[in-house]
Amino acid sequence: MAVCEICGDLPATVTCRTCGRAVCGLDRVGDLCGACAEAICAVCGTRLSIAVCALCGRPVCRSCGERRGLARICAACIGVHAMRHAR
Ligand SMILES: [Zn+2]
Ligand SMILES: [Zn+2]
Ligand SMILES: [Zn+2]
Ligand SMILES: [Zn+2]
Repeated sequence: MAVCEICGDLPATVTCRTCGRAVCGLDRVGDLCGACAEAICAVCGTRLSIAVCALCGRPVCRSCGERRGLARICAACIGVHAMRHAR
């Protein structure tokens, strides 16, 4: 039986949807492995993040963030800002 590729200890029960690693139940988050879950976009929860939001520090993917100079801001923070500016 395959062994979890993250902890190398427990038998693997699922395959990560994103990276294809076989992981055990403890290293599984939804249909992702623990490593990918940490790198997944915090806004859509489906795509891998490419940057960290400069305001809230959460990982964001290409489509859920907007570039602001050198930084990237997530859609949630853009929404908060838009509300603050709208009167
Ligand atoms: Zn494991
Ligand atoms: Zn993975
Ligand atoms: Zn996203
Ligand atoms: Zn943010």
